[in-house]
Amino acid sequence: MATKILVVEDEEKIARFIELELEYEGYQVEKVADGRQGLDMALSGGFDLVLLDIMLPGLNGVEILRRIRKGSDVPVIMLTARDAVMDKVSGLDMGADDYITKPFAIEELLARIRLCLRKRAAGAAEPEETGNALTCGALVLHPERHEVAYDGTPVELTSREFALLQTLLENKNIVLGRDTLLERVWGYDYMGETNVVDVYIRYLRSKIDDKFDVKLIKTVRGVGYVVREE
Ligand code: CA
Repeated sequence: MATKILVVEDEEKIARFIELELEYEGYQVEKVADGRQGLDMALSGGFDLVLLDIMLPGLNGVEILRRIRKGSDVPVIMLTARDAVMDKVSGLDMGADDYITKPFAIEELLARIRLCLRKRAAGAAEPEETGNALTCGALVLHPERHEVAYDGTPVELTSREFALLQTLLENKNIVLGRDTLLERVWGYDYMGETNVVDVYIRYLRSKIDDKFDVKLIKTVRGVGYVVREE
């Protein structure tokens, strides 16, 4: 049975573009432009995932999400505008599974959708997860214990390096752009140099890749970085 995705987006061009791309990938798509209608459809229970814009006529996306979460745990990915800082924060606080900033590359949206659906499927299969360790090959990161080890050898990281590595591992196999990393690790209001990401990637490589003679942190030219097993 095809995976059903609801697209709540009032910008017809964007909605149509997403619909075409998702259908091409084999998803079954329904789109709706009005917030109230979107909420009703999301609550109807027939969807495996909801893509939810924030600025909508009728009812805004954050309010829709709040109401969805009262009665449903359907995965929700928020579509946010670049300057809508508060929206992203309140969206995640309110139980969005992920968000993507417009304009986005369709490949990133597809990757986030796959990740979201996979997490949900894994969660359903084994509700009691054994720890929240993130791994890539012999690299293990424990978010709660704030520990990193490679093949059992502890790796000492600063808190920023740790946050960067955690973000990369949470998105294993997904290429993250510098802007995305900057937002997620340094925050929306970071005003410093954008090459700070490259600098910290170098720090991480010297402490992990170089030290253990592996290539886990890869550069994707013109796009960004990804953590991938060799
Ligand atoms: Ca909109």
